[in-house]
Amino acid sequence: MEDFDLLNFVIQATYFIAALLFILGLKQMGSPMTARRGIVWAGVGMVMATLITYFHHEINHNYIWMTIAIGIGGAIAYVSGKKVAMTDMPQMIALYNGMGGGAAAAIAAVILLKQDEMPMTIQALAVIGAMIGTVAFSGSLVAYAKLQGLMRGVIRFPMQQFFNALVFVVALTIGLAIILNGTEYSMTLLAVFFVLALAFGVMVTVPIGGADMPVVISLFNALTGLAVGFEGYVLSNPAMMIAGIVVGSAGTLLTQLMAKAMNRPISNVLFSNFGDADGGEAEAVNGSMKEIDATDVAVMMAFAEKVVIIPGYGMAVAQAQHKVWEMTKQLQERGATVKFAIHPVAGRMPGHMNVLLAEAGVPYDIIYDLDEINEEFPTTDVVLVIGANDVVNPAARTDPNSPIYGMPILNADYAKNVIVVKRGKGTGFSGIENHLFFADNTRMLYGDGQDVANDLVTSLKEL
Ligand code: NAP
Repeated sequence: MEDFDLLNFVIQATYFIAALLFILGLKQMGSPMTARRGIVWAGVGMVMATLITYFHHEINHNYIWMTIAIGIGGAIAYVSGKKVAMTDMPQMIALYNGMGGGAAAAIAAVILLKQDEMPMTIQALAVIGAMIGTVAFSGSLVAYAKLQGLMRGVIRFPMQQFFNALVFVVALTIGLAIILNGTEYSMTLLAVFFVLALAFGVMVTVPIGGADMPVVISLFNALTGLAVGFEGYVLSNPAMMIAGIVVGSAGTLLTQLMAKAMNRPISNVLFSNFGDADGGEAEAVNGSMKEIDATDVAVMMAFAEKVVIIPGYGMAVAQAQHKVWEMTKQLQERGATVKFAIHPVAGRMPGHMNVLLAEAGVPYDIIYDLDEINEEFPTTDVVLVIGANDVVNPAARTDPNSPIYGMPILNADYAKNVIVVKRGKGTGFSGIENHLFFADNTRMLYGDGQDVANDLVTSLKEL
């Protein structure tokens, strides 16, 4: 019998347990009730995988570099994670995601730089992982810059997609040359390959508008997972392989879900601006917007049996969630049934509203998804739309020429009374007029989300 390598067994077993923790953690992240626990489990898996790597025979001589890198990365992540505002979360995810792609690309670079003999399949996987990781890295950094306001507008020029495709094909051809040449390729070729992959990531992201970035980030996230999975295979590291596959598939599903909830194919997000779509004239809006004040709204809600609150991007901007929850408790004390209705793409990132409401302490059992709540609107006395716009625009149901036609919406217009809280006549993300605001059963309560929620709390107290 061959010698039993105990250390190797422990290392592989630890990687396996870490991978299991990633999967179980992700499963728990599927519900807000268990999400925190899921994050802790996945985090424990990551710490285990990182620590056991110190004992890996191939990297023994790199202790100092590893410790410095972990120290710097850990400190930056801890401080930024503590400080980040909820509304800045998408760009933070973009940055972290970019780092993941960059790390996968760096691993590939180290493997390829060594120019060791390796089977062609492994060399091919290293090159493909390098390409995907590098594109995800530079693309995510552009996404970060756009969301952080460091880069404004979109950059477009004639034949842009042809030019992008050309860069991609040249990078792929060089990658193929590296694979076919075994250990004989030149370092210049490898450098050109990485530069082109970096450029491609930047070039595909700059023409996309900032508001579409969450979908793009989710796509890059899937790519990062794929790159990590490939490099895990190259390194024969099961934790990396499984983590990569899990992130790759979760990212792909999330990207599809977001695109579906916006009723746009992913190709439309990547290759055309929102609203560039074909189609004729959008339907003219009939009627006028009718204003109401906070005292009247408070009276209306105080005597309602059932109130549904629809939060949107504006609630996030105004950070009104705490005041909205205070108001909800007042209504509940008066005997009203209050429910929150969440559209899958309300706000600017998946789960945006759920996170804000959870932060304010709203219990999960009064928060409903689109499918669960939509049939309840006809029996709802008052719908309070706070900082939401596109997700309640009936044009998505009725106007085939509207850019959002076909997007599933919350049918707020079916309720007996609709109150819309917003600052003025500003449009939402789609830039189109909302027919709901002009409907007979709708009243507009103008003001910043937090100020209005505060006024409603005060008015309810005085009743
Ligand atoms: P929205 O359509 O973007 O509308 C937000 C509304 O909030 C605006 O009409 C604005 O009107 C109002 N507002 C802004 N600041 C406010 C403040 N301080 N107080 C009160 N109101 C304020 O938002 P949504 O209904 O949540 O829809 C989300 C949109 O983003 C959808 O079109 C979706 O497709 C898109 N999107 C979402 C995601 C995602 O993952 N969630 C990703 C990409 C794109 P005023 O300026 O008049 O106040």
